[in-house]
Amino acid sequence: MTYAHAFLDGSPCPLPVGKVVCVGRNYAAHARELGNAVPDAPILFMKPSTALVPLQEGFSIPAGRGECHHETEITVLIGKTLKNADTETCLAAIAGVTLGLDLTLRDLQNELKKKGYPWEVSKAFDGAAPLAPFLKPDTFADFTDTTFSLKVNGVLRQSGHAADMITPVLDLLAYISTIFTLEQGDVVMTGTPEGVAALNTGDALLLEMAGLEVKTSVI
Ligand code: ZN
Repeated sequence: MTYAHAFLDGSPCPLPVGKVVCVGRNYAAHARELGNAVPDAPILFMKPSTALVPLQEGFSIPAGRGECHHETEITVLIGKTLKNADTETCLAAIAGVTLGLDLTLRDLQNELKKKGYPWEVSKAFDGAAPLAPFLKPDTFADFTDTTFSLKVNGVLRQSGHAADMITPVLDLLAYISTIFTLEQGDVVMTGTPEGVAALNTGDALLLEMAGLEVKTSVI
C-alpha cells in the first residue's frame, strides 16, 4: 500500500515521506507493564519510511511471527529541518499531529532484548507504522493537554494523556534534534501509554483524539 502524508481536511500535503523516529518507555505506567525501568533519558529508535502505511485503509500484521502488539501514539509531522533546535523552533516546525500505531512483534522483541540485540526486526518491518491523516497543528495549541484512546472490537485497550509523557513532545523533538537531524517529512512517534496487547486479523479498531476519529481494521 503506497503511503503519502495527508491532512484530514483534504488540503494538499507536499512534504516528502521520511524516516520515523520513535521513543521507548515515555509513559511510566507502560514501562512498568513490560517490567522495564523508567529511563533517565529518552530511549530512541527508528523505523524506515517503508514502515509507513495509511492506518485508515486497514493494515496487516506479520503472520507466524508471534504476538504483534498495538502501541497507540501521538505522532508529529516535521515541516522544517531541526538540528540542535530549541523547543520554540520545534513548535514552529510541526506541520501536523495525528495518531499512529507503533506495531511491535513483542515475542520477537523480547527475544532480541534478552540477547542484547537491536530491536529493528521486531519494530521496523514494512507496515510497522500505520498512521492516520494529520490534523493541522493549530488544533493543538497545548501539546500537554491532549487525550487519546484505542478501542479494539469495542473494548477500551489504551487511554493516554500527553501530560503523562516522561519527556513532553517539544522537549522530545529538541532532544532528538541533537542526535538525528529531523528533516521535512519525518515523523516522530511519542511513545505509548499502558494497555499494549496483541492484535489479530479481523480486529476492528477505533482510534480517537480531539478532532480525530479513525475506524480501521486488521486485514
Ligand atoms: Zn512505541
